[in-house]
Amino acid sequence: MIPMVNLKAQYAEIKAEVERGLAETIASCTFILGPNVQAFEKEAAAYLGVKHAIGVASGTDALHFALRAEGIGFGDEVITTAFTFIATAEAIKYVGATPVFVDIDPKTFNISPEAIAQAITPKTKAIMPVHLFGQPADMARIKQLCDQYGLKLIEDCCQSFGASINGIQTGGIGHAGGFSFFPSKNLGAFGDGGLVVTNSDDSAVKIKRLRNHGSDVRYHHEVIGYNSRLDEIQAVILRAKLKRIDQYNQARRHVAHLYSQLLADLPLTTPFEDGLGEHVYHQYTLLSDRRDEILKALQAKQIACAVYYPVPLHQQNVFKAECANVSLPVTESVAANCFSLPICPFLDDDTIREIVSVIRGVFAV
Ligand SMILES: *Cc1c(COP(=O)(O)O)cnc(C)c1O
Repeated sequence: MIPMVNLKAQYAEIKAEVERGLAETIASCTFILGPNVQAFEKEAAAYLGVKHAIGVASGTDALHFALRAEGIGFGDEVITTAFTFIATAEAIKYVGATPVFVDIDPKTFNISPEAIAQAITPKTKAIMPVHLFGQPADMARIKQLCDQYGLKLIEDCCQSFGASINGIQTGGIGHAGGFSFFPSKNLGAFGDGGLVVTNSDDSAVKIKRLRNHGSDVRYHHEVIGYNSRLDEIQAVILRAKLKRIDQYNQARRHVAHLYSQLLADLPLTTPFEDGLGEHVYHQYTLLSDRRDEILKALQAKQIACAVYYPVPLHQQNVFKAECANVSLPVTESVAANCFSLPICPFLDDDTIREIVSVIRGVFAV
């Protein structure tokens, strides 16, 4: 069986370091907001080139707190993409705002700056691009719109840890960004975890409050907050993997480029790198009008494959009523034809060739 992500191979490589760190943490019996979370936050802030990095319980909470800290709330509109995981829109709903879904670029699948420009109204308060599949969105043009209209820019970086534009990491471009450490993400924990980043001291204070019951000083509470902290066990794992993240992302890029080279002559659309930023290939996603045949052939050979995402957010049951008049032709067409192949830093060239030969077989008949 070839999985989408080979987490076991990754564990084998970091096992000694992780087990030592875990044993020390368990022996110290300091589990919440201890030295490893503090150290990880410092190391992550340095890596990402931001002033503040605040560990939280999930990527979903990271996006929620980023929006709340930036003052987004009831009655506000937040322009975002429908071609993403549900959590992007859930975070907008949590603060009482309305997600306004706009169409994507047909090549990168990232939110279209032209579509954003057309959707801005007096109620628009923020733009929330997703760096989908690890490729940075067109931040120069999106930031220009934010500056022009006085909007907040909140980045969904849940799939883009380590991706950058002109040497600036995703998350450090807008007012705030949210990362996920779900196990299969580019930087994955051994459970749930997330991170909010910002260069604003004021926002950082608010985010730290929100994650810890609205409190700056223990048993003194300023606002209604949440119990949403990154824990020490996860911080130990994340510190070990953060040291190796560039190596992991380079290996992902190698996998992607070999796939694209080997698939180049087939009648399908391989991922497009727009060259505006460094793609870190959280997913390797293609388009084909014969998707279902390809998926069947791969499954028959015990090769994992997946569709991210089969139903865009405006067509989900939860949003159907409020999005009755929303039509996103590019998003809908991409959702109908996209599929993703296994990708991770530990996928070797021979296995990539094996996967490609199965796809080749579909087009040979
Ligand atoms: C994974 C993901 C999230 C949510 O992260 P969790 O840690 O699972 O809460 C949000 N947005 C996108 C685009 C994601 O891929």
